[in-house]
Amino acid sequence: MNAPTPTSPVRTRFAPSPTGTMHLGALRTALFTWLWARHNAGDFILRIEDTDSRRFEPSSIASIISGMKWLGLDWDEGPDIGGRYGPYTQSERGDLYRQVADDLLAAGHAYRCFCTPERLQRVREAQVAAGKPRRYDRTCRYLTPEQVRAKLAAGQPFTVRLAMPTEGSITFPDLIRGDVTVDAATLQDPVILKSDGMALYHLAVVVDDHFMDISHVLRGQEWLATAPYHFTLYRALGWTPPVTVHLPVILNPNGKGKMSKRKPVIDGQAYPVHVHDFINAGYLPDAMFNFLSLLGWTPDAEQELFQRDELIERFDIARIVPSAAAMPYDKLTWMNGVYIRALNAADFRKAAIPLLAQAFKLSTADVESRPGLDYVLPEVQARVKTLEECPGWLGWMFCSAQEMEYTDSKLLIGRKLDVAQSVAVLDKSTCLLETAEAFTPDALHRVFGEAAKKMDLKAGSFFGPVRGALSGKKVSPPLFAMMAALGRDEAMARVANAKMHLHNLAST
Ligand code: GLU
Repeated sequence: MNAPTPTSPVRTRFAPSPTGTMHLGALRTALFTWLWARHNAGDFILRIEDTDSRRFEPSSIASIISGMKWLGLDWDEGPDIGGRYGPYTQSERGDLYRQVADDLLAAGHAYRCFCTPERLQRVREAQVAAGKPRRYDRTCRYLTPEQVRAKLAAGQPFTVRLAMPTEGSITFPDLIRGDVTVDAATLQDPVILKSDGMALYHLAVVVDDHFMDISHVLRGQEWLATAPYHFTLYRALGWTPPVTVHLPVILNPNGKGKMSKRKPVIDGQAYPVHVHDFINAGYLPDAMFNFLSLLGWTPDAEQELFQRDELIERFDIARIVPSAAAMPYDKLTWMNGVYIRALNAADFRKAAIPLLAQAFKLSTADVESRPGLDYVLPEVQARVKTLEECPGWLGWMFCSAQEMEYTDSKLLIGRKLDVAQSVAVLDKSTCLLETAEAFTPDALHRVFGEAAKKMDLKAGSFFGPVRGALSGKKVSPPLFAMMAALGRDEAMARVANAKMHLHNLAST
């Protein structure tokens, strides 16, 4: 089933609460919301929902904005750029909320609640003791107009509560879940305006979506429980609600529980969950964009790799899958590898350098100026799935011959060779390095290959001790790319050190 073509302009919004660093789930919500606006050539709005001042963390706005920009999501209206429907930060829209709350009070859809926090606490305690669900007992809903007037005249502080239906059920549509019905007995009369006149989420979100002409609301499934309150408010105010879609929950990689806010550690492995963890680990925005688009949405194609434009063209909210699914980290890593390999050499270099600089405690200029980097970077590009893996392939390059520690002497001994033969190989290598004319991977490969033949050794046996000498590692980029990258002097110094190491080994 395809979603009906909207008759009015599509306006969607991403409405995060600035309460912490941005989670991958929030980025997915932003992306789906953005895709739907762009698919329909509509508007995408960024709105900051900061009504909960106790949980407000100023730094999270920067985290949200940088996460969205990293993924390549742009907005047509928002707190930083303004727009016709502004302001776009809820704490600046208080007058509008209070006005709507007054209308609700006047029409009898809301009431003033004068209960003190102490009384509410006592009610809750009694309910818990009686094994009943904790909810407001609606005492103030039934105050007479005279009682209300008297309390107001006495200056008693009050909150405003929404008068929910007390019996029957509430049914509201969700585009992918169909009609959702909730028993009114399971709901309570929520506070929509605090005693200081500040609106709470239910009121602010409905007022903003209405006055900002939002046509489609896409948000996480965790908000489904709030929808009955919102639909009741729409009805009370006589407004048409936006088309609503609750996106499926993303589960932990083992399928157990919602992907947590803290890095889940499963079988000893810590998984990233915050957008900035993925950025720092060197995931590519294009790969993440492709991956996240398919996290809960299925295009009508077998294909998994899509260009951004294709995703915009195909994205359809009616094909969002309502059921929760585990976060497929393997797929993300695989896809990231595909995108890494698709980068041109210059872009890979640009992406890898900051991670190398960080890992080896150098400035990016230092890393950039390393001669020989271009011999090995393409080899690394062919092998890594995330940029975070790059330093592991290049440690040998960012230390000196003196710093090389041949902790595993076996690496200096060629396959099927003994120590003396391996020393002979290194001796020969010294001569080859000294006399090699062109110090390029291909030329060096030829020279070393011929020497192996002359010594009647298999290439693998001959190259082994040299690889060990240059890299100190069992797994490394191809030998001759490393050799060319290190240059003649450094390569010779390493071979000399390795030979010394083997001599010592033989004499102990
Ligand atoms: N402010 C909510 C959040 O932090 C958004 C809920 C909604 O989109 O209605 O996710």
